[in-house]
Amino acid sequence: MRVEAALAASALLLIPGPAHARKKATPAPVAAPAQLIGEALTSEVSWLRLEHLCDRIGHRLSGSPALDQAIAWAQDAMNQDALANVRAEPVTVPVWVRGHERLTQLSPREQELDVLALGGSVGTPEGGVEADVLVVSSFDELDALPDAEIAGRIVLFDVPFTTYGATVQYRGHGASAAARRGAVAALVRSVTPVSLDTPHTGNMEYDEDAPRIPAAAVTVEAASRMHRLQEAGAPARVRLELGSHDAGTAPSANVVGEVMGRELPDEIVVVGCHLDSWDVGQGAQDDGGGCVSALEVGRLIARLPQAPRRTVRIVLFTNEENGLAGGRAYAQAHAGERHVAAIESDTGTGAAAGFSLDVRRTGPEAGRYSDQDEAAYEVLVEQLQAVRPLLAPLQADGFRQSYAGSDIAPLIATGTPGFGVDHDTTGYWPIHHTEADTLDKIDPIVFRRNAAAMAVLTWWLAERAP
Ligand SMILES: [Zn+2]
Repeated sequence: MRVEAALAASALLLIPGPAHARKKATPAPVAAPAQLIGEALTSEVSWLRLEHLCDRIGHRLSGSPALDQAIAWAQDAMNQDALANVRAEPVTVPVWVRGHERLTQLSPREQELDVLALGGSVGTPEGGVEADVLVVSSFDELDALPDAEIAGRIVLFDVPFTTYGATVQYRGHGASAAARRGAVAALVRSVTPVSLDTPHTGNMEYDEDAPRIPAAAVTVEAASRMHRLQEAGAPARVRLELGSHDAGTAPSANVVGEVMGRELPDEIVVVGCHLDSWDVGQGAQDDGGGCVSALEVGRLIARLPQAPRRTVRIVLFTNEENGLAGGRAYAQAHAGERHVAAIESDTGTGAAAGFSLDVRRTGPEAGRYSDQDEAAYEVLVEQLQAVRPLLAPLQADGFRQSYAGSDIAPLIATGTPGFGVDHDTTGYWPIHHTEADTLDKIDPIVFRRNAAAMAVLTWWLAERAP
């Protein structure tokens, strides 16, 4: 807290005193970054907004009434902040309904297991699917088994977390890999490095060439236990009941508001997040915190005595979790415009060490960037040296080359440099997509500091000399 308190105090010192104290001399204008930081760290507005979103609106999956409520609420917030051109840009989103779900271990010991269907999963037939569990640790291990050992089983992918990108492949494509070999359902170990017996949901996709079998996440604890049972020669038998199903599409929207640029209004810095969440917990870290931070950036920049040179456009995207329809619709609708940068906050609310830069103009080939991208990255990093002293007091002046955000990925693909708020994710993955993603896990001081860093970078990108 000491850093924040000192920062807030020093920022306050820069703010002109009461009118009677400055009758004679015109006070020196407060530098914009100091004003942004001072207001971000001392205002209650952002935290009260996050509390409202989490506690009164709650989780908000695409197509849910709660998401519609959040979309209306976000527009109200932007109007309160006197942003320009506040609007909801229509997007059609897929609707998936979880329904009833239950996983019962029948042997070697009868036990109810916590379970969450994966988003996009089909349901089970009435009465559920009952089968022996076959546990594998990788796609390779599954491939090496004969069909006879897989057919009729429920395949459980017990894959320990390495990185999110690597481990999430099993959540995304495990069901089709198992179905292709004759499995009747798929279970995945929750994608998390740490577990307190909590299942993690998330999206899955069916491959065209495989039967569609039900898919659900179990806890790390249950997955390892069933793995041990198999190795001990007593494989688990379970019954899985899922009522999940697709329910067509629904109208939704990206929420957009702007601070118009004073000199180059046609050049746009996008500040984004996703307003939808999974249908568990409160979507507090994923991505309620990111959305309220983005709103806070708009609010803080709108309060500056002088608008930055370029337009700052706040975009709360819809449908990141199960479709990315919001990010795609935005990129398509605004394809003719000049986006000079896109910033996204979507890796929780841990302390930000800085920003991850994504300049994949040609796309990473097998995990490596092209020479053109590497060169563009070097140029950008050089230019960013100028903003580092402004971010250093917030301990958020690090830049590294990495993924920036999925909603802004379509913009990045067309050449817009992407910036992801580079959060400490230690506390994020353990609660990601679970019932435990709730407001109480968020540190209000760190949360404000992250918003301050986002505001300073946004302002600098919008203000810097052409
Ligand atoms: Zn997210």
